[in-house]
Formats: sequence, structure tokens, C-alpha cells
Amino acid sequence: MKYRHLGRTGIRVSELSFGSWVTFHNQAGVESAVEMMAAAYDHGVNFFDNAEVYASGKSEEVMGDALKTLKWRRSSYLVSTKIYWGLHDGVNEKNTLNRKRLIEGINGSLERLQLDYVDLLYCHRPDATTPIEETVWAMHNIIEWGKALYWGTSEWAASEIIEALQIAERHHLHKPVVEQPQYNLFERKRLEGDYVRFYNEYGYGTTTWSPLASGLLSGKYNKGIPKDSRGGLKGYEWLHDRLTDQERLARVAALEPIAKELGGTLSQLAIAWCLKNPFVSSVITGASRVEQVHENLKAGEIADKITPEVMERIDAIFGVKKKDEDDD
Ligand code: NDP
Repeated sequence: MKYRHLGRTGIRVSELSFGSWVTFHNQAGVESAVEMMAAAYDHGVNFFDNAEVYASGKSEEVMGDALKTLKWRRSSYLVSTKIYWGLHDGVNEKNTLNRKRLIEGINGSLERLQLDYVDLLYCHRPDATTPIEETVWAMHNIIEWGKALYWGTSEWAASEIIEALQIAERHHLHKPVVEQPQYNLFERKRLEGDYVRFYNEYGYGTTTWSPLASGLLSGKYNKGIPKDSRGGLKGYEWLHDRLTDQERLARVAALEPIAKELGGTLSQLAIAWCLKNPFVSSVITGASRVEQVHENLKAGEIADKITPEVMERIDAIFGVKKKDEDDD
């Protein structure tokens, strides 16, 4: 496993990390979570991602119980959580980054995770109704109280991140240091476009999500939706259009010979492709069973085999023009 600095911070994260969205509680109980987290840790993963909203708080409970069972040294791993959607419908409790919610939110997450602090705390989405200054102050205070060590944003617009950074600079507050955007072969515009300024000017890090586009890039949806997959889960029907889109499936099929040539699987190639972007600090992988963890965490070996020529072939499959073709 290779480790990358989280942007310009002093902390290093494994270039492949492990997250619990959809899976923990819904597909994996504590026993299975322990098995998958142990496999990830044995492969060198030191960063585990969560959010209060995942399985309405139950995902944090499962991870908390798993960590308790695993008894790892606290300083040997990083845990994150994210706040925004909330767990209750009260007027100040959902879709917000107000001070009250953030402070009550982190307290609840720490209780469920059975931890004294999280390493990274993300604002899971931007909140247009709360002044960014209020959010920056609350996140600063949470860090000062030792309940989180670093904070970041997830799916914030470039202008919102800049505003947060400038407020923090003006008042000498803890700045956000990392963004968590979606990044995979189908969703690359934001990370490769709008955000480039932050990496260069502010040394912002990125921990990216859904490297397999919810499993689509593993190739398993090319023969329909398997019963034992995310696409087959009750409550995830909203994913069906994406997972059965013929144009997308054709691109995935066209990728397969490249994966074979490099001696890997489609999943490994798709994850490895994310690793090729130097602005990515860590690719957060997901898995519903331990075999997937073993397979996915070998993606680093495939990344080393992706030459610029292979990159061009992949770009051609996904309809991305070469840079000089765009310049006219
Ligand atoms: P992926 O796109 O990689 O999808 C993971 C899912 O694909 C697995 O749960 C599994 O589902 C399937 N899969 C994984 N590996 C394989 C394999 N080798 N072969 C076949 N199927 C496979 O990642 P996620 O969408 O799960 O996102 C990863 C993490 O990113 C999340 O856990 C979360 O921590 C974070 N995230 C953050 C978001 C944000 O807003 N900040 C939003 C979403 C995710 P199955 O077996 O059930 O089909």
C-alpha cells in the first residue's frame, strides 16, 4: 500500500481507503464489518470513512462495534464521519450546517462510533441557508475541543470552498483541508476541472467516492441486475437507470480487454484509474463482502501498469478528447 499526504497537511492516508455507505447494517453486520475492515487494514488501509446519515446512524454503530472488537491502536488508523442530512425531521435538524446541528451531530457520531474523536469531519453537502462563517466557526470549535482533528467539505462548489478558506484565513481559524467528491470514469469533470485551483493554490486534498460508480464499473451489470448486488437492494431502485444504461454498459464492456491485458479485473482497473490522478489523496472503496476487499485493494499493482498510452485508450472509450484537441 502506498500512502499520500492529505493535501498539504502533515497526515498521510492510504491511497486506497474503505467506506461503509449502503453496506454497513444493510448488507454487513458487525461480524462481516470486522472481517472486511481487518482485510483492509491487513492490506495497509489506514482510513475508514463513514457518515451519520448512513443507515440512519446504524453504520456508525456497526463501525464502532467493529473497532471495539478489532482493538487496533487508535493512532494506527483514521476514521471520518460526515454531517448534513441529519437523523430527525426537526426544523433545525435536517439539511443544515448550523452551529447547533454540527455540535450536536459530532457528539452523536462519537457516541455511536465509541470514539473520543474522529480524524476527519466533513460537511456532507453545502448549506445555502446557513452563513458559511457560522459553519467555519463551528468546525473550528469542534477541532479546538479535540472532537475532530481535521475538517473538510463534500460536494461543495468551488466558490463555497474558497469562501470557507478565506473566512478561516481572515480569522485565523482551522481551515478545511479536504474535499470528498465523486470520482470515477463516468464522473470526472469536477475533480479534473473546477477544483484544480484548490489543489495548487491551497493544497486541498481529496478523498474520492464511488470509484466503481456503485459497482457498474465491475462489469457485473452487463448481464442485468444481479439479485445479490446493490442494484438489487430494496430502496436503491433509483440506481437502476444508471446501472442498466446501454451506452454506459457498452463502455464498460470495451474496457474489459484492457483490464485483461494488464492482468487485472475490471474493478481493479477502474479503481487504479482513479489512483493515476495525482490530486487524489485517497480513493474510498466500498465492498459488501470480503472477497471484493481482497480484489479491490490489489488495484495499486494495476495502477503501476497504466502507461500514458493505456490512459489514452481509456479516454477514447469514455469519449474524452486529448488536451490539444480541446484547445481550438
Ligand atoms: P463503489 O462505487 O466502488 O461501489 C461499491 C459497491 O460495488 C460495493 O458495495 C459492492 O456492492 C460493489 N463492488 C465492490 N467491489 C466489487 C467487485 N470487486 N466486484 C463486484 N462488485 C463490487 O463505491 P461506493 O459507492 O460504495 O462508495 C465508496 C465509499 O465512498 C462509501 O462507502 C462512502 O464511504 C463514500 N461515499 C461518499 C459519498 C459522499 O457524498 N461524500 C457518497 C457515496 C459514497 P454490491 O456487492 O452490493 O453490488
